[in-house]
Amino acid sequence: MTRITKCYFCKGRVIEEKIRHMHCWGDNITIFEDVPAEVCQQCGEIYFRPEVLEWMDKAVLEELKPKARVSVPVFSMPEPALA
Ligand SMILES: [Zn+2]
Repeated sequence: MTRITKCYFCKGRVIEEKIRHMHCWGDNITIFEDVPAEVCQQCGEIYFRPEVLEWMDKAVLEELKPKARVSVPVFSMPEPALA
């Protein structure tokens, strides 16, 4: 398996970290915690390994039982936008 060591975009250094990742899909938001990812120390680009992406896909399709459910406030910026 090829590991990413350099950022594809900025060539910055990439380090494996456990992150919290939010996935938005239409009106659905899913939060993943403790997800191993390669994170660029320069631009913040995040890379996931294929098996991690597979696991998140599976979770989103609700084959997995979530650890918790949260409700989130939603705000819509009124017109005219704050200047
Ligand atoms: Zn980068």
